Amino acid sequence: MKRIGGWLLPTACPLCGCQIAPGQDFCADCERALPGIGTACSRCAAPFESPVLSEQTCGRCQQVPPTYTAVHALFRYTAPIDRLIHGAKYAGRLDWAALLGRQLARHVRNRPCSFDALVPVPLHRARLRERGYNQSLELARPLAKDLGLPLLHAVKRVRATSPQTSLSREERIKNVRRAFVANQDVEGLRIGLVDDVMTSGATVDAVARCLMKAGATTVEIVTVARA
Ligand SMILES: [Zn+2]
Ligand SMILES: [Zn+2]
Repeated sequence: MKRIGGWLLPTACPLCGCQIAPGQDFCADCERALPGIGTACSRCAAPFESPVLSEQTCGRCQQVPPTYTAVHALFRYTAPIDRLIHGAKYAGRLDWAALLGRQLARHVRNRPCSFDALVPVPLHRARLRERGYNQSLELARPLAKDLGLPLLHAVKRVRATSPQTSLSREERIKNVRRAFVANQDVEGLRIGLVDDVMTSGATVDAVARCLMKAGATTVEIVTVARA
């Protein structure tokens, strides 16, 4: 009933609390103010400080090309969207995860990208037990449904890595190395790897490497926000 009611009754904008029509995710003012990705690296979607004229890759991607071929990022990881992502990740706001998943689906549908299947970035079972859900899976579910693609649990996190936020880039790479193993064969598949926030890219690159070893032809990253 609660679910049905949500479709029929006006709800509150998750960012400002004002009333919005059923079927809308944000009010018009908040929607306009959402932090878009702007000018960014064509490979890893890292935002550029100043606008560039043509499609360009960042210095880091030129030096060490990542395993993934592209990044589809919806927002910059900044206010006010960071609050929703944080709530979806740590505070059990699965309604916000579903909302962000819908937004992601809308974004991906309008872009040139080709996946045969989606894979969520897995959590280690200890963290899954503690949190009760995997936010990447909660994002990937509405996305898979919308795009009509299979959702594969193709990768397992075998090492509980410490939180990435306080680490340097080198430490992050070391931290995630050997943290993932393939659960299944993904021979010949083009994979869309789903994550909530992409920061250094070390985690998604480690998972992408694992998927390529398991036979994937390409891995593209699909993320709500890019830091
Ligand atoms: Zn609003
Ligand atoms: Zn780049």
